[in-house]
Amino acid sequence: MNTTSTTIPRETARHVLWFFGQDGGYQPGSFTEHLLYALSFADMVNTAKIAEVYPDYAAAMVAAKLDPDGIANLQRIAGAEAPLGCKCGDSAGPFDLQGRCETCTESAA
Ligand SMILES: [Zn+2]
Repeated sequence: MNTTSTTIPRETARHVLWFFGQDGGYQPGSFTEHLLYALSFADMVNTAKIAEVYPDYAAAMVAAKLDPDGIANLQRIAGAEAPLGCKCGDSAGPFDLQGRCETCTESAA
């Protein structure tokens, strides 16, 4: 599973931030809340299975759980800090955790 090249929409970042009680988050619908709950307990095998269907949520949850900069990156995606802009000039997103837009992420893959 490649979680670093998955773009994370602003809404996904906000939902994951909410799940971890971080600034910039807001509560998703009940299905997404349960999806986040499942991901929080998932081992890597089950995370990979969920990522087949929900790659953005899986990548955001892995980042929040395992990456020391994960929460800060999600807050940037969520616009809680200075908004992200890709080096190509795209500022609309979605972005991956390195700040690349979807187009640049796909061309780099
Ligand atoms: Zn770009």
